[in-house]
Amino acid sequence: MDKTIGIFGGGQLGRMMAQAALPLNIQCTFFEANTDCPSAALGPVYSAKAENGLSEFIASADVFSLEFENTPLADVDVLTKNKTLHPPRQALAIAQHRLSEKALFDELAIPVAPYKAVTSLEQLKSAAAELGLPLVLKTSRGGYDGKGQFVLRSEDQMDQAWAELGPAGELIAESFVTFSREVSIIAVRGQNGDVKTWSLAENHHHNGILSHSIVPAPNSADLQPVAQDYITRLLNHLNYIGVLTLELFVTDKGLYANEMAPRVHNSGHWSIEGAVCSQFENHIRAVAGLPLGSTAVVRPTVMVNIIGLHPKTADVLALEGAHLHLYNKSEREGRKIGHITLMPNDSAELTALCRQLAKILPNPLALSEDMTI
Ligand code: AMP
Repeated sequence: MDKTIGIFGGGQLGRMMAQAALPLNIQCTFFEANTDCPSAALGPVYSAKAENGLSEFIASADVFSLEFENTPLADVDVLTKNKTLHPPRQALAIAQHRLSEKALFDELAIPVAPYKAVTSLEQLKSAAAELGLPLVLKTSRGGYDGKGQFVLRSEDQMDQAWAELGPAGELIAESFVTFSREVSIIAVRGQNGDVKTWSLAENHHHNGILSHSIVPAPNSADLQPVAQDYITRLLNHLNYIGVLTLELFVTDKGLYANEMAPRVHNSGHWSIEGAVCSQFENHIRAVAGLPLGSTAVVRPTVMVNIIGLHPKTADVLALEGAHLHLYNKSEREGRKIGHITLMPNDSAELTALCRQLAKILPNPLALSEDMTI
């Protein structure tokens, strides 16, 4: 092996990073509480629960990255005494704190919904008076997949919202954005400052969890350069190395940033088959200091998450052109355990594939039949 990259986390994102690293003779190691994790098939896992786990992990690799955005900063600080982490600590710290993230978006003139910091019931009341209802109350730290959120629609929910989220510490109250669609932009920045951006993904959620992404997002030609500009500002400002994701709302006033993830992202899984170079390979290339690959779309692609229950592998593979990615995770309600990539020739073929998929998936989620590509 030419190089070893140590990755904080050992879930499916780490697994797919390591799959992309192997052909480049790059080995991955992982740091994860559960050593029986999805990445374990691809490289050694150092247990975050073991006494010397962190120091053994730090000794195991040349350079480091992450697939888990809540990687403890204390661990990063131990690591960076002697080794390098890409992306930078600052990007991680900001992404772990919604208020800091919003402040950065403001600083870089990236539009966001009006918001207020909330640390008391009184502040919540004054935020509601100032921003109006409905508003979305979120914990500043620790939320994911819509967890740690409360949509406040009427004054009489104020006490309930505060009772549910107040104990979680600092909160953020955001104006409710009336959006037509949710999209994400993913980009990679190399060690020489090169930036490459994939096409916008249009993301569909079910119960707060990503159900499927369509790439390129339909009718997004005018949105692409704007989103590209926003993410490039972030990458350059943070002196970022690796893959960064920015989730955005499409509104009649243009794009509003929702949040960023300092890592490869579920809405970029399409790129394994759908782009010349995937988010995983380009992330590895960036972290290893190698030239970046083309992010061009090979074919319009739909990525469908497998959530909760496994379909029969043979049923999925019988679908024309479908690719199946299983993460070696056990079934559990609401858990992402795999994904399917569809590469139809046109919208009619996509409709037909979605109909077949709806019969195959035990949990067909929000797959609608009128998708277009
Ligand atoms: P988040 O955890 O911030 O990604 O939010 C999860 C989901 O909640 C988003 O994908 C949106 O569908 C919805 N959401 C979050 N913030 C807002 C907002 N300010 N207005 C309307 N919907 C929101």
